[in-house]
Amino acid sequence: MVTDNLKKVIERMENAAKRAGRNPEDITLIAVSKTKPVELIKQVYDAGIREFGENKVQEIDRKSEILPKDIKWHMIGHLQRNKVKTVIKEACLIHSVDSIRLAEQISKDAATLGISVPVLLEVNIACEESKYGFKAEETEAALVEIAKLPNITVRGLMTSAPITDNPEDNRIYFKALKQLCVDLKAKNIDNTSMDFLSMGMTGDFEVAVEEGATHIRVGTAIFGERDYSI
Ligand SMILES: *Cc1c(COP(=O)(O)O)cnc(C)c1O
Repeated sequence: MVTDNLKKVIERMENAAKRAGRNPEDITLIAVSKTKPVELIKQVYDAGIREFGENKVQEIDRKSEILPKDIKWHMIGHLQRNKVKTVIKEACLIHSVDSIRLAEQISKDAATLGISVPVLLEVNIACEESKYGFKAEETEAALVEIAKLPNITVRGLMTSAPITDNPEDNRIYFKALKQLCVDLKAKNIDNTSMDFLSMGMTGDFEVAVEEGATHIRVGTAIFGERDYSI
């Protein structure tokens, strides 16, 4: 079942890219496997996917131990500073840098390990109470500060748009994030590249692709509904 789901998601992603005149190869599909068992993840892996997203450090830690080593793990959830040291060893990209303090911790722990950590700044583009992330208008100042830190590189922006039944409702937010990213890239801030745009989930990934997403994070459409009670 998951392989059929995956095929459909890839097809929809490719069609959205074509509609927007984009090369589907410029878009990375991240299969969001949070709460899902390793057996199911292995099926998606066997179907060719190598990038997986998790929102808890413990889960990346446990699953990366068991699953093939060529998987690239993306940290997409709110990150506590005491978990940084573990996650920067295991994740290829941290999408959820939502404070300068967190960036400072990443910089510090990365220096200890002698590595450089690529990150995205999470932007709360629709100003939702319930969500983490910088406000759009705070993002430039945060980027300037974080860019000064050693051992951390900002590669772009990430957002989770509001939950909605109509994906078209989120087009304005995806457009706004893309524009913010373009504007920040134009500032040519040292030690930043601003070439990644992580946006689009099960409910809205086609619109996100049309608006310029380079990374989409899709869970439910591939793995089915999540059961948080187990
Ligand atoms: C869970 C999650 C997703 C995937 O959500 P679906 O609607 O299941 O595709 C994407 N991004 C983040 C940050 C998430 O926490």
